[in-house]
Amino acid sequence: MVGCACPVCASPDPRDKRTRASVLLKTRSSESEDWEYLLIDTSIDLRQQLLREGAPPVFRVVYTHSHVDHFFGLDELRAVQFVVKRPIEVFGSAEIHERVRAVYTHLFDPNAQSGGGILSVRLHPAEGRFTAGGFGLQTLQVLHGKLPVQGYRWGSLAYITDCSAIPEQTWKLLAGVDTLVLDALRKRPHETHFNIDQALEVVARLGPRRTYFIHMTHDLLHAETNAELPEGVELAYDGLELELPSFDPLNWEMG
Ligand SMILES: [Zn+2]
Ligand SMILES: [Zn+2]
Ligand SMILES: [Zn+2]
Repeated sequence: MVGCACPVCASPDPRDKRTRASVLLKTRSSESEDWEYLLIDTSIDLRQQLLREGAPPVFRVVYTHSHVDHFFGLDELRAVQFVVKRPIEVFGSAEIHERVRAVYTHLFDPNAQSGGGILSVRLHPAEGRFTAGGFGLQTLQVLHGKLPVQGYRWGSLAYITDCSAIPEQTWKLLAGVDTLVLDALRKRPHETHFNIDQALEVVARLGPRRTYFIHMTHDLLHAETNAELPEGVELAYDGLELELPSFDPLNWEMG
């Protein structure tokens, strides 16, 4: 945190250097040389994150919700657009479409001066089961305080950020999840995020093979917290890469 000198912010452990929560999915068919990418959220640290990961040409993004930390990096994909020579494909709920239009007004203004080339986006719905390029995703409705947030399931992976409650109908969609990525803000309770104990209750009910906690605040030292977590549960860290058990990325079966 800017301005903070607490033991986590001052920690020499690179796993304590946390940028905002986001994940890049990638897949490729056996015939293809090229990876296909899908980004979940455009964090305000997006440029730094994509450069760190070798500047992949990602032109598809799906949103969980429109809070600043997950949303305000969209314009960083402008540079990618010049490389891939196509608009950025944005997937999200109706609320996301509304927020993209409200926040990035110049993209929709026919009179906007576009000398340097402005970002061009195409908006697509992200509801129920949907397709984004070569990715078949299932939305997972959760609550972030009172705000509805969309988590996503892709094969045996579930990604749920910014969550304080999982409604009953969403549990069915989590059956058989092998790799769970879940919000766990800190030890103390919080109004709009799971704390560690609540996140562990989700893990106990679901029983995934492995779980990675995300969106931690600077209350939690990586090494110290990890040592206290049960087997199969750990804190994620910036740059962590996970390989998923093989599945059809477009037409996978639930369960
Ligand atoms: Zn701090
Ligand atoms: Zn949020
Ligand atoms: Zn957040």
